[in-house]
Amino acid sequence: MPRDRIVGLVFDDRYLTHNTGIDLIEDVAPWPFAEPAACVSSPALVGRAKHLMDLYGVAERMRRIEPILATDDQLTVYHTPEYLTRVAAIAQTDGGDTGSGAPIGRGGDRVARLAAGGTIAAVEAVMRGEVDAAYALVRPPGHHAMADEGMGFCVFNNAVVAARQAQREHGAERVLIVDWDVHHGNGTQAAFWSDPSVLFISLHQDDLYPAGWGAVDQVGLGEGEGFTVNVPLPAGAGNRAYAEAFARIVDPISRQFDPDLVIVSAGQDASVFDPLARMSLTLAGYRAMTESMMAIAAECCEGRLVVTQEGGYAAQYAPYCSATVAQSLVELGPGEEPIPDPYGERAVLQPASNEAGLDAERAIAQAVEVQGKYRTL
Ligand SMILES: [Zn+2]
Repeated sequence: MPRDRIVGLVFDDRYLTHNTGIDLIEDVAPWPFAEPAACVSSPALVGRAKHLMDLYGVAERMRRIEPILATDDQLTVYHTPEYLTRVAAIAQTDGGDTGSGAPIGRGGDRVARLAAGGTIAAVEAVMRGEVDAAYALVRPPGHHAMADEGMGFCVFNNAVVAARQAQREHGAERVLIVDWDVHHGNGTQAAFWSDPSVLFISLHQDDLYPAGWGAVDQVGLGEGEGFTVNVPLPAGAGNRAYAEAFARIVDPISRQFDPDLVIVSAGQDASVFDPLARMSLTLAGYRAMTESMMAIAAECCEGRLVVTQEGGYAAQYAPYCSATVAQSLVELGPGEEPIPDPYGERAVLQPASNEAGLDAERAIAQAVEVQGKYRTL
């Protein structure tokens, strides 16, 4: 008898203690003489996402997974020992930047280790078969973090160390990482650039952040050539363009790779309200992408899917996107309604929900052409 589907949730109040303060760009803003603004990467975002999961009855249908503090051994599969020492030293002070734009406060290395360890715990629960899938609602995010420096709010690369844990400890040979954060997952790409055992697919706004990363012709190197897939989309792309990118690129490439585990680097900053990007996804788009990943995982690896939280900066809207992803993972129960889109009927009516647009069509066709050299597309 197949048992009921079980979806895990990693969340810990300690994630909310990672506070990047006010005005990250204080060196150019005339603070304190002008009205200060909170840093966009506010702990309130994951806090609200958890509240919405509670309010809409999603969290109560998920099994709690306790995060662990990632050990040196688990982090140095990617990060250098010198970097770990530097992060620990900063955390002994009143705070500072771990690289470029990835500040931590006093004790912040502990929270960053708990974020990496949260994603690791989710992967371990899935690989052991204790849960079918899991959402790691962690903070700080990870996908920009390089081996030897933090970057773009990311301190340790949660997805990278979790993928390696699956390979080292749980017999996963091939791991698929799909990164739909609107920014490019440069740290993850760098980690697996010449490694054919991890297929990295990134959908992002073309040449947004970091500069120079994520061009369509960045495909990996040596044995890893053809195992990095970049799909840079033009500003304005929404549900329709993302659906086409999934149908023509993400779905077929993932299935041909046939992973043993699927990890999603889920940034909710491609939403129509995000202050750091110019994309147009709505809740329906996030639901569709989650369902695509669930279908791929079901076909290839008995559903083994871990979603780990990356960016998402629209104070009101991004938490709805995260809660919708979680609700999609647990699937709607009988008589249960999808979480309503706070954008109302405009979410359905806005052009980007229904048309890809010529620029997006061109960008997708170009990615198909580049990647068609390695797969049947
Ligand atoms: Zn992002």
